[in-house]
Amino acid sequence: MNILIMGGPGAGKGTMSEKIIKKYGILHISTGDIFRSEMNAKTELGLLAKSYIDKGMLVPDDVTNAMVKSYLMNSHHASGYLLDGYPRTLAQAVALNEVIKGTRMEIDKVIALDLPFDVLADRVTGRRICKKCQSIYHITNTPPKKEGICDVCGEPLVQRKDDTIESLSVRVQEYIKNTAPVLDYYREKGYLVTINANQSIDDVWADVQKALED
Ligand SMILES: [Zn+2]
Repeated sequence: MNILIMGGPGAGKGTMSEKIIKKYGILHISTGDIFRSEMNAKTELGLLAKSYIDKGMLVPDDVTNAMVKSYLMNSHHASGYLLDGYPRTLAQAVALNEVIKGTRMEIDKVIALDLPFDVLADRVTGRRICKKCQSIYHITNTPPKKEGICDVCGEPLVQRKDDTIESLSVRVQEYIKNTAPVLDYYREKGYLVTINANQSIDDVWADVQKALED
């Protein structure tokens, strides 16, 4: 089973990805991991990608596409894969399709986690983290026992710089602008299943399994 998972900031993509690979025993392919492994191995593509990242620039599509292609070609994925964080743009989706078309790597399902903006805004702006032990809290959903203090280590909790409504709006608009054409592309191909991410983790997971086993 070859799966692609998509979801904007805070939609729970990481949690669902973990559950999917654990239950179905498929290979997790995240572009972040591929970048890191290529950069660590100092491959030509890895060094090229690093030159952009070091300048604070986005890695261009053709470099990312080439990296994903090389990874897909050289990985063992007998039981399938879960692609996470790619494709992020229509150009990447088309490039991916060129690589996998007619092979065993063709995509079976595209899972899109959908979360209304107001719910997302509440999740993200209410998030507080402990810089010392990395524990994560939410001011109303999972508050610490003592306001503003980490339960685990007693350090003061902080809000991440990016967890403000302004920063979130920019990220979400960027995400929607890039991914709306990708979603349309997969919808037309009949792969897309949209999952309501505004539910408990268990309910989202139940819907994801149903979609994958349907
Ligand atoms: Zn802590």
